[in-house]
Amino acid sequence: KKVEVTNKKLEQEPLPRKPAVYVDVIRSEEIQQARMKLPILVEEQSIMEIINENHIVVIAGETGSGKTTQVPQFLYEAGYALKKQIAVTEPRRVAAVSMSQRVAEEMNLSHREVSYLIRFEGNATENTKIKFMTDGVLLKELQTDFLLSKYSVVILDEAHERSVYTDILIGLLSRIVPLRLKKGDPLKLIIMSATLRLADFISNERLFKVPPRVINVESRQFPVIVHFNKRTPDNYLKEALNKTRKIHSKLPEGGILIFVTGQREVNWLVQKLRKVFPFNKKHAVKENGAKSTKSRENEGEETVDDEDDDEGVKKTHRKRRKVKIVPQIDLDDYSIPGDLEFDSEEDGESDQLSSDDEQDAAESEDESRVTTPPLWTLPLYSMLSIHKQRRVFQPPPPGCRLCIVSTNVAETSLTIPDVKYVVDTGKCKVKLYDKVTGVTGHVVHWCSKAAANQRAGRAGRTQPGHCYRLYSSAVFNDTFAEHSPPEIQQKPVDDLYLQMKCMNIDKVVNFPFPTAPDLMQLKTAEQRLKVLGALDEKGNVTLLGRAISKFPVLPRYGKMLALSHQQDLLPYTVCLVAALSVQEVLLEVPIVSSGSIEDAKSARQRWTATRQRWAGQGQSLMLGDNMVLLKAVGAAEFAAARGKLERFCEENGLRHKAVVEIRKLRMQLTSCIKDNVPDVDDITVDPEMPPPTDLQAKLLRQILLAGMGDQVAKKIMPDELKEGEEKAKFKYAYRANNMEEPVFLHQGCVLRKTLPEYVVFQEIYETNKMYMRGVAAIEPEWLPIYVPQLCNLSDPLPSPEPSYRPDTGKIHCNVTGTFGPQAWPLPRIEL
Ligand code: ADP
Ligand code: MG
Repeated sequence: KKVEVTNKKLEQEPLPRKPAVYVDVIRSEEIQQARMKLPILVEEQSIMEIINENHIVVIAGETGSGKTTQVPQFLYEAGYALKKQIAVTEPRRVAAVSMSQRVAEEMNLSHREVSYLIRFEGNATENTKIKFMTDGVLLKELQTDFLLSKYSVVILDEAHERSVYTDILIGLLSRIVPLRLKKGDPLKLIIMSATLRLADFISNERLFKVPPRVINVESRQFPVIVHFNKRTPDNYLKEALNKTRKIHSKLPEGGILIFVTGQREVNWLVQKLRKVFPFNKKHAVKENGAKSTKSRENEGEETVDDEDDDEGVKKTHRKRRKVKIVPQIDLDDYSIPGDLEFDSEEDGESDQLSSDDEQDAAESEDESRVTTPPLWTLPLYSMLSIHKQRRVFQPPPPGCRLCIVSTNVAETSLTIPDVKYVVDTGKCKVKLYDKVTGVTGHVVHWCSKAAANQRAGRAGRTQPGHCYRLYSSAVFNDTFAEHSPPEIQQKPVDDLYLQMKCMNIDKVVNFPFPTAPDLMQLKTAEQRLKVLGALDEKGNVTLLGRAISKFPVLPRYGKMLALSHQQDLLPYTVCLVAALSVQEVLLEVPIVSSGSIEDAKSARQRWTATRQRWAGQGQSLMLGDNMVLLKAVGAAEFAAARGKLERFCEENGLRHKAVVEIRKLRMQLTSCIKDNVPDVDDITVDPEMPPPTDLQAKLLRQILLAGMGDQVAKKIMPDELKEGEEKAKFKYAYRANNMEEPVFLHQGCVLRKTLPEYVVFQEIYETNKMYMRGVAAIEPEWLPIYVPQLCNLSDPLPSPEPSYRPDTGKIHCNVTGTFGPQAWPLPRIEL
């Protein structure tokens, strides 16, 4: 059945007024009081009237006004969860989990009733009434139930974030709502957003012919005084550190919220702040009195001086020449939280490292001469464990000032109570994606004016506040964009394109996107899916394409799974695909708790040795980074079975949360295979898994090539170097297909020893150079078999024949393989 992508007018007559239903909720006194303070609460009645009378409603209101936590409760109390569920989507996993917990707590309901569902986990049950989920999860649900018949209401939260999935959901739901109405089973759509750029949804004729009703929630925002730096510093992290020190030692009480760009920067700054203002329980109580005197002394609107001429800063400059602290450019996936860079063969400054700790000790003394209350410094970013995330909502220990160092999750999705000072670096990390070459890289950029204003607003939630912008007003006015572009224009849309095709949306270009991706993006996605064999020449979904789309991973990984149907490969591919789909599994060096440079250095050596050991020999070694991943996951599971996972991860440089996610994804993929691939209902996953045999390792390399055949690179030989290019600099250099610039094997890559002629890689990322991530060696003679489209062949290939063995009922491929798009559809994968 084709989905109608037309612009049908919704019925405009007011709906018959529903008899008022009230479902009782018993809330604690404390919760009740906290709720009363939220601006949205007084508007409950009018909001519910508008929702009852309209199919599509937009609720816009400042962050912190209570949209996410209260609107689902209003709906529940009005009876919307009696027969069906209330769905709330969030672009961020951290918000889905944290909000479901908060709402359950406020309503005095269990997690069976107010649940969450994110890619790897969830606690939703048959009895779930309100379900928080990531937008990606709801989009997947649409594939099996296009009318979303489980739900009476869908709330798309944080629509202003413009995440790809939310954008697509808005487009799809604009058509589903009329369909449900036609069926006599109406569905409400509520779009919630901060007060940003609403026009993209509201006055978008293709999306909604009649603009939906908009409710503006009054906000209670206190004035925030914005202070710009006179100069824009080079090192915004040092600047943030200094500014925070000044705020804490000079200004009256009130929480501090600092915005930096990523997890590593958060950890760096938290470490520094904790060193400068060590927290110690005894201290906290003792200083209690001192603090209040001090804050009284400082009463009045005193602000921190913007000039950078005090002692501490000079000291920093002097030291900076010696100590190389490069957190803001060291965005390599593999680096230590301490962010001191060692071992850089390319720019060999490693020997000049001097201890940063001495300096810290001196600074710390300086600071303690002034009596300052202790600072309660907490990190906040989305990869943080749930338990640690929750701490930011709790009041700091008595007598301490709360200080939160956060990525932009605190910008709109989570509201931290009692923040009075915001320190804004003005930066954000953007994953850049080159539409032509597919190169990804994390670039630290100026954020948008809208984002900077959101950040400033965080200071005025409960009282008048201050926002310190660590950049000049000229930079803000001239360089900052008004808004950041929607995500859909910034990343590959392959998986979306395939999903939409599988939903029988024929002409993806005609889809009512709130903001359309550009044509080039759609074309390259289609092209890549054709190379993968997921779409045929005419652009129709193939059987392979349907099989691929069932897996909750990128299409290229889906293909690897669909191909692994022999020689007991599935458990390995499942493990590998899971590990490749989770971010930052391996850290650059194991975490060193004492933090000294010597320790970190030896940790790095140990880690290099561990990698080499995990990589093994022969065929295994040629699997490169992928073998290290496989082995690391297997070894971690071995430790986990003995209750030692956390320690193992810490000692061996694995991110604990990543390992746990990989395990969940492995289970999910395994059951997905059982459900969708008829042949393999007996797949068992041994978490600890023995290493692959030589044959398996070789097949795995071919499977990697089959999935990532468009990402192949060839070693640059010395005689190919241009004049003036130094040989030594090109030792690890490769030439990737369709890229001008050379790409390099990264520092931790085990293939640096063998330097294979051809490699396949997971992605290219850019730091100071272009690096390949997830590299495996391949044999050149495989190329015409797996990626004939990308080869110039002198003779046409004989059509590869998969051999069907009636005795086993399986398709067998020999080592030279019969993969590749021509081999599809393989009869046994038919669904
Ligand atoms: P909005 O969605 O409009 O941004 P929210 O509903 O997220 O607003 O937040 C409303 C209030 O609930 C905020 O003041 C926030 O601090 C508070 N809040 C949210 N989660 C928690 C939590 N886990 N613990 C305590 N307070 C919380
Ligand atoms: Mg919200």
